[in-house]
Amino acid sequence: MLCTLCPRKCRADRAVRPGFCGLGEEMLIARAAPHLWEEPPVSGTRGTGAVFFSGCTLRCVYCQNREISHTGAGRPFTPRQLSDTLKRLADLGVHSLSFITGTPFIPRILDALELWRPPLPLVWNTSGYEAVESLRLLEGAIDVWLPDLKHFSPRMGQLCAKAPDYFEHASAALKEVCRQAGPCAYNEEGIMTRGVLVRHLILPGLTGESMKLLTWIRDELPPGTPVSLMRQYLPCGEVGVPGLDRRITEKEYRRVRDHMLLLGLPGFLQEAESADSGFIPVFNAPESFI
Ligand code: SF4
Repeated sequence: MLCTLCPRKCRADRAVRPGFCGLGEEMLIARAAPHLWEEPPVSGTRGTGAVFFSGCTLRCVYCQNREISHTGAGRPFTPRQLSDTLKRLADLGVHSLSFITGTPFIPRILDALELWRPPLPLVWNTSGYEAVESLRLLEGAIDVWLPDLKHFSPRMGQLCAKAPDYFEHASAALKEVCRQAGPCAYNEEGIMTRGVLVRHLILPGLTGESMKLLTWIRDELPPGTPVSLMRQYLPCGEVGVPGLDRRITEKEYRRVRDHMLLLGLPGFLQEAESADSGFIPVFNAPESFI
C-alpha cells in the first residue's frame, strides 16, 4: 500500500522502501515508560505511560529527540506487543497513556486498541503536522490531543523542516481535533479526560512568529482552548539554520509570554529550569522499556 498518512503524502511503498519519515512497515518503538514531564493535566503526579514511536513525519532540524526522529532507532513491536505494553503501563498506576509521534503507525495502533481498550485517557502527542483524513481514522479512539503548533510562515516551515505547508496543515489539523474533542473535561485528580492542549515552543529570534501563532489560536480555536508555552529550546547537534544555534533569552520569553497573557489565553507557562538536556528521555536502552 502506498503511504499517505501524513501531509508529505510521499506515497512510499513502505514494504519496499521507507518514506520521508524514515519508516518501513514494521512498527518501531524507542521508549515505553512512565513519563513525568508533560503538562500537569497529562502527567499528574504519577506520570503518563509514554510510548515514543521511532521516526517522524516532520524531522525538525532542531529536534531534541533526533536520535529517534532522524535515525529511526527503536525496537520492532507487533500490535499485540503494544497492547501488552499499554497494559503494563496502566498497571503501574499512570494517569493516562500517550502515543508520541505515532502518525506513521496509525493502523497498527488502532489494531492494538482493538485488542484492549485501556480504561485511561489516551493522549495523541505530535508535531501538529497531520493530515485531517488520518486524524479522522482516530476519531473515537483518542481522548486528549497534545499537538504542537510550531511555525507560522512558509519560510520557517521550509527552513526548519522542509515543510513550507506546515501551518496550512497544522492549522487544519487543530480545527479537526477541536471538533473531535469538544470542550475540555477533567477528572477529580485534575487529569484531562477529553480536550485539546496546544503546545508552542519559542524559537530564538522568532518571537514574531510565536505571537502570530498565539493570536491565531485566540481568533480561530474554541474559546478556552489551553496553550502550553514552552521555553526549553536547546540547540542539538548541527542545526544548520542561522540564528537557531542558541537558547532563547529571558527578554524573548517575556515578550511572548506577555502577548499570551494579553490575549487572555489559558494554559501553562514553562519554568526556566526545564530548559535542560537532563529532561530529554533515554531512548532505545534496556531502561527505556517497562
Ligand atoms: S507517514 Fe511517512 S511514508 Fe507515510 S506519507 Fe508520511 S512521510 Fe511518507
